Amino acid sequence: MSFATLGLSDVLMRAVAATGYTSPTPVQAQAIPAVLEGRDLMVAAQTGTGKTAGFALPILEKLFPLGHPDPTYRRTAKQIRVLVLTPTRELAAQVHDSFTSYGGELPMKSACIFGGVGATPQIKAIAPGLDVLVACPGRLLDLTNQRMVDLSKVEILVLDEADRMLDMGFIHDVKKVIAKLPTKRQTLLFSATFSKEITELANKLLNNPARIEVTPPNTTVERIEQKVYRVAAGHKRALTAHLITMGAWEQVLVFTRTKHGANRLAEYLDKNGLPAAAIHGNKSQSARTKALADFKANKLRILVATDIAARGLDIDQLPHVINFELPNVSEDYVHRIGRTGRAGRSGEAVSLVCPDEEKLLKAIERMTRQKIDEGSLVGFEPPAQSEMNSDRPERQRGAPANANGRGQRPANGSGTGRSQGRSDKPRSEKPRTDKPRSSQPPRAARVNSEPQDSVTEERRHQAHGNRAAPSTPKTDAPRRPAGNRPQREKPALFGR
Ligand code: AMP
Repeated sequence: MSFATLGLSDVLMRAVAATGYTSPTPVQAQAIPAVLEGRDLMVAAQTGTGKTAGFALPILEKLFPLGHPDPTYRRTAKQIRVLVLTPTRELAAQVHDSFTSYGGELPMKSACIFGGVGATPQIKAIAPGLDVLVACPGRLLDLTNQRMVDLSKVEILVLDEADRMLDMGFIHDVKKVIAKLPTKRQTLLFSATFSKEITELANKLLNNPARIEVTPPNTTVERIEQKVYRVAAGHKRALTAHLITMGAWEQVLVFTRTKHGANRLAEYLDKNGLPAAAIHGNKSQSARTKALADFKANKLRILVATDIAARGLDIDQLPHVINFELPNVSEDYVHRIGRTGRAGRSGEAVSLVCPDEEKLLKAIERMTRQKIDEGSLVGFEPPAQSEMNSDRPERQRGAPANANGRGQRPANGSGTGRSQGRSDKPRSEKPRTDKPRSSQPPRAARVNSEPQDSVTEERRHQAHGNRAAPSTPKTDAPRRPAGNRPQREKPALFGR
């Protein structure tokens, strides 16, 4: 099949040719004609399938029929014609880049907005009215409440990576945004997986949608070669350096579970002659953008990232991904390794698994219905005691796999209303300690320890940027009963 059969005008065909795409990916072949017909869409497609062009190209065709401005449309201040919602800033920036690159020859006005950076340039960009606005829900709602954006004339809504939006607790913001849109509109919903929650959302939002499923849900992309290295936690840093060096890997994305872990690993690799930078929710937006740009431009060999910071990264020809620690949630494994093997290219994803992580590995293998091959450690010299990860080993937070193969979400407000991160062990099995109560670590210190906080932190960063979040007054209020879905902390602007 060629792009020529899909109903795109010459301007867009030239843009497609300029990117070097020769034929549409399966999701593009199905989505482009359906969007042009005006249908709502429900698409199960992971990042890497070419889904962005699958919606951006037909949307541009509809905005600019045959490459010309629609003569019936009059631009009005602050009004938006197409709204794309994404869960993260990085994904928003990438989707916006795709629109500007495909629409390079068109008189398109567009902007990209997200938290963590000043709002003034964003408000100015929106002021004249836009064809396309790509936005993260928190900042969009903020500006809408300040009447800086008028969503009442939106013609097309795209929800990109809807499953991530739900996982990150943005559902309330998304619903509030949707309430401000006209009911008569075209809605396109993209999600890597179709959980019960996403299907419920789709049933509410979509009108007789065309359903497109390009890879079976919850299976890893077959062209990605996957390996597991069973190794002591203290040997992981040395093994990471060994694999990169011995394999002469030119570009590697490494996932750690924690922000501090990302920093420590990047420092270690850097010190050992392997240039690396870390990106995570504590880094400023400019530091994140720079690290990503350097990595994309091949100026940086290794990018160490936490899950959320890395979400949606679109890096062409990324051949290697390392899971320095396995993710607590099995679906995140699929998202992580989807960074490699994009758009038909082959890739390799390796996971370093210490004994504590065996349960997580089993859950991933069960969910992806495969047994991951073991990599060879021949030639790897375990480091001397003094050279081992000197820092405290990454702590395994309550993540035993449950029956449906999902790990557990942290219990701090990032969950999807599923399990709440409590131990499966009955109380009586917990090891007793002889220490007097007072000498045990204070409860708060444990509750606030970093691994649990990564998702909450990222959301705080999305809302507040690098400013301190409004301090939460200490309270003796009773704890939320287990099982209640935690409420997302609201940015100060929303008031309570
Ligand atoms: P996405 O799933 O939208 O994040 O796209 C993943 C990658 O596929 C991006 O790097 C695109 O540039 C690339 N891509 C999109 N469409 C095509 C195509 N038709 N042929 C080759 N590569 C593509």
